[in-house]
Amino acid sequence: MRGIVWYRRDLRIADHPALSAACKGWSEVIPLFVFDEPLLHSHVFGSACVNFMLGCLQDLASSLSDRGLTLQWRRGEPVEEVLRAAREWKVDAVYWNRDYEPRAIERDRIIAQRLGQAGVVVRTFKDHVVFEADEVRGATGEPLQRYSAYRARWWTKWHATTPAVLPVPTALAEKVAAPRPVSSHLPTAPELGYDPVALRFEPGERNALKRLRWFVQGPLHSYATNRNLPANDGCSQLSPHFRFGTLSPRKGIHTALNALAKGGRVSRPDVLTWVDELIWREFFHQVLASFPHVAEGPFRNVAVAPSRESGPVRDSLFQAWCHGQTGYPIVDAGIRQLNQTGWMHNRVRMVVASFLIKDLRIDWQSGERYFMQHLIDADVAANNGNWQWCASTGTDAMRGYRIFNPALQSKKFDPDGAYIRRYVPELAHVSAKHIHEPHLMTADEQERARCRIGDDYPLPVVDHQHARQEYLNLGKQEVMR
Ligand SMILES: Cc1cc2nc3c(=O)[nH]c(=O)nc-3n(C[C@H](O)[C@H](O)[C@H](O)COP(=O)(O)OP(=O)(O)OC[C@H]3O[C@@H](n4cnc5c(N)ncnc54)[C@H](O)[C@@H]3O)c2cc1C
Repeated sequence: MRGIVWYRRDLRIADHPALSAACKGWSEVIPLFVFDEPLLHSHVFGSACVNFMLGCLQDLASSLSDRGLTLQWRRGEPVEEVLRAAREWKVDAVYWNRDYEPRAIERDRIIAQRLGQAGVVVRTFKDHVVFEADEVRGATGEPLQRYSAYRARWWTKWHATTPAVLPVPTALAEKVAAPRPVSSHLPTAPELGYDPVALRFEPGERNALKRLRWFVQGPLHSYATNRNLPANDGCSQLSPHFRFGTLSPRKGIHTALNALAKGGRVSRPDVLTWVDELIWREFFHQVLASFPHVAEGPFRNVAVAPSRESGPVRDSLFQAWCHGQTGYPIVDAGIRQLNQTGWMHNRVRMVVASFLIKDLRIDWQSGERYFMQHLIDADVAANNGNWQWCASTGTDAMRGYRIFNPALQSKKFDPDGAYIRRYVPELAHVSAKHIHEPHLMTADEQERARCRIGDDYPLPVVDHQHARQEYLNLGKQEVMR
């Protein structure tokens, strides 16, 4: 039996359910990746993300080639390309791992139907999450809207089933399709219509495993305390790997729990806090799968202050935010980190999102789109879920009256301003006392810090206290209407 394993957001060979099943059941395996032309043309994702994906594909192609298999690739509309490949290679079956984004679900439904009509067997597998939406439900089978309830049931399910990590299929080398299909080198970013980017994150499965080992042996040991400090290497920075499936969540969780089981220095709170973050990831996937309308708009229409109307004021505030020129150092550092590296620390993501929505009163979907276009780990479920959390419109959202104070967040989580100085070099010589609110420096202090406010670094684009009060007042008016 000959078949296609259709790679999508699972760019690895270990713990790969579709590949493992194919190797068990077929004599010939053809791995295929399709560059989704309509999606690439839409530029929903940015160059950093596309370059990272290409790096992951290179690594996958090389791992497969070490075992005698050639990663096949096509460019075009995925339904048509998979159908054409299935016809050309006369395959009996196509296997893939499931994707939970509404657009992907619809695409997969159509292709499964058309392959079925052509007499090709289709099997799909759970992979991208430990538990799919319908596996972790409330007492009456309802989807869960509160993270705490979801988390409790997720752990019950984990202890009841302890999902295994699958090894790399040993028989891969024997599954080479004959006659062996030939594929040329993978396209470059410019060939796909994107800029080449020097990546700050090492792509591919091998690098994901290396990074996981580094994290579990080091930063995990102080994760609960250090994860909120953006200047430190306190978190794993594995999100691009979970996004592209160069690392499976099962592998990540088992590795952390094994480190705990072995004893040593790692503590239970550190490990469980980290696994909690992966459960947030699963929670948001569950929200997207159960309530697909969130991809297009708010989960609920709550009484929060209305967004600023469109117009020149709104546009100039949004541009200041996008370029890291708001005059709020922690916000500017975060956005510049994103623009330069394709990644932003989680604490700072929350601060910049709150600032956009509640201080600048710009609709959260503009921020959501901007993040999608700039993050390497850009993921509809996690991005939408978190933006809706910050906007107080999500299932389990930050309360509407809770508004981050950027200067206080900065003093608490970047006390000496090391993170700010790294991304906002204009403030490199500003003292720790003023780094969080440099506009409060006197003219002499500005002179000494070699930074003239309003010239070298902008004045705050809005006054936080005033903006906060305005947001709260507008929210109250909404409630009264
Ligand atoms: C406004 C906003 C937008 C976001 N957009 C994305 C996005 O597009 N893609 C994305 O992967 N994450 C997103 N996040 C979540 C989070 O910021 C990143 O997952 C995290 O910063 C990744 O860093 P890390 O790998 O070091 O995480 P760690 O702290 O090491 O956590 C381990 C893993 O858990 C998952 N995770 C951690 N925090 C969250 C969270 N709050 N929600 C969902 N999953 C989480 C990630 O897969 C992460 O790699 C967003 C957060 C906010 C506030």
